[in-house]
Amino acid sequence: MRTIGLIGGMSWESTQTYYQLINQQVKHQLGGLHSAKVHLVSVDFAEIAKLQHQDDWQGAAKVLAAAAHSLEKSGAEILLICTNTMHKVANEVVENVALPLLHIADASAEQLIADGIDCVGLLGTRFTMEQDFYKSRLVEGYAMEVLIPNEAQRDQVHNVIYDSLCQGQVKAEDRRAYLAIIDDLVKRGAQAIILGCTEIGLLVAQSDTSIPLYDTTAIHAKSAVAWALSKETN
Ligand code: GLU
Repeated sequence: MRTIGLIGGMSWESTQTYYQLINQQVKHQLGGLHSAKVHLVSVDFAEIAKLQHQDDWQGAAKVLAAAAHSLEKSGAEILLICTNTMHKVANEVVENVALPLLHIADASAEQLIADGIDCVGLLGTRFTMEQDFYKSRLVEGYAMEVLIPNEAQRDQVHNVIYDSLCQGQVKAEDRRAYLAIIDDLVKRGAQAIILGCTEIGLLVAQSDTSIPLYDTTAIHAKSAVAWALSKETN
């Protein structure tokens, strides 16, 4: 089994989901007392969120690049950035390490393509929904059509992430709002919805709707386990 390196803490509410899913899947596949080999560097999300909202992405990239470097030194063999948003600076995070990066958008797009979906709704932070770094990867890399909520809906989705979910608050009213936004995206042609923020799975589950949901946290964690177990070296 190879060692998975996680850059987490963005927020820790979703990093704990990564840790749990990765271990559950290793146990499921290997059985008995098996658990995953995981190295985690967990940052202070208040610092990162401040840099994001000040538009200092290079400052945030430096913090994550230092985390990547320490994961490489500690013996991690693959790198996961446990947030969709911070993939905006994925290139800068890995430019000085030799570790391969398991990109969250690629893992999700491959799953969508395998399921025959080519028009998808995207929920995430305003950065992820509005900027190009994430959508263009889906559009240019996988020929997908990506729909995003309207401006007022985007504000709502974004604010729920930072003001509630990243602070451990899961509210029924927020779930209702998200489900209405999901319905709207489907009316506009989306065949499925990418939960493109690692905390959204804490709020909305597949059991809440008949619309197919692609939870990036679960997909990312599953891909990491597949990779870790794909080449048994010891
Ligand atoms: N975890 C969230 C994401 O997947 C938001 C937190 C962040 O801005 O990194 O985008």
